[in-house]
Amino acid sequence: MVSSKNIVALTGAGISVESGIPPFRGKGGLWEKFDPMEYAHIDAFMKNPAKVWDVLIKEMKVIIDNARPNTAHKGLAKLEKLGLLKTIITQNVDGLHQMAGNTDVVEFHGNFAWQRCMECNNKCETIKIDIGKIPPRCECGGIYKPECIFFGEMIPQQYLRRSEMAASTCDIMLVIGTSANVQPAASIPLIAKQARAKVIEINLERTPLSKEISDYIIMGKAGEVLTTLINEIEHLLNL
Ligand code: NAD
Ligand code: ZN
Repeated sequence: MVSSKNIVALTGAGISVESGIPPFRGKGGLWEKFDPMEYAHIDAFMKNPAKVWDVLIKEMKVIIDNARPNTAHKGLAKLEKLGLLKTIITQNVDGLHQMAGNTDVVEFHGNFAWQRCMECNNKCETIKIDIGKIPPRCECGGIYKPECIFFGEMIPQQYLRRSEMAASTCDIMLVIGTSANVQPAASIPLIAKQARAKVIEINLERTPLSKEISDYIIMGKAGEVLTTLINEIEHLLNL
């Protein structure tokens, strides 16, 4: 890693677990409580926005408004400062990579920081939204929808293109805290692999990538693994 000039990280919900944001799948995941098709599919939102706001989005807002970067996010920011990490492609919508200091972040599934009025397109920061009344409405009376991609929605072309470009030009891809179940994000490591990058997976469990795509698998919590890796890198760089 020390001699790499272009590391790209693909991150998923697992990297934010140590910041108190539950993942979707796995132990303690949101899908143990909610059925994704009932609450996170675009059709469900369009059919009954009040219900989705009341059960899922309201809870996400409270958690994300209060979340702060953990040692894994800070570790990736440090790798960028050291000139090793170039781009983060994240499936997360929590904005914690930018808060930690990374400057080139592709938010593959959009972000939760902003809401858009479904009537007049007016944008409002999520943190300023009053959840006293559900669903929250814009001055024009339209309902706010978070600027993230729901299941059943297309990934915007520019995110796809930027991710493919980053993946096909990196020499190492770190895949951190993703179950690699959600397409097309899950195929990004394959693009890196086909371009001869080494794929290093950091997760608590094995994933569909572990068998054939990942060159190295480091099992453990993202924060602890990245802290160890960066200590090692700094030692090798005599820092
Ligand atoms: P996922 O919920 O499907 O899987 C989480 C993965 O992280 C699992 O493989 C789990 O083993 C691993 N994990 C859990 N804790 C970990 C830790 N401390 N260290 C390392 N790994 C850990 O997540 P996904 O693959 O990102 O897909 C879910 C979708 O849900 C994404 O599209 C994303 O948009 C959305 N999501 C985002 C957030 C967020 O913004 N923080 C939170 C939940 C879901
Ligand atoms: Zn409006």
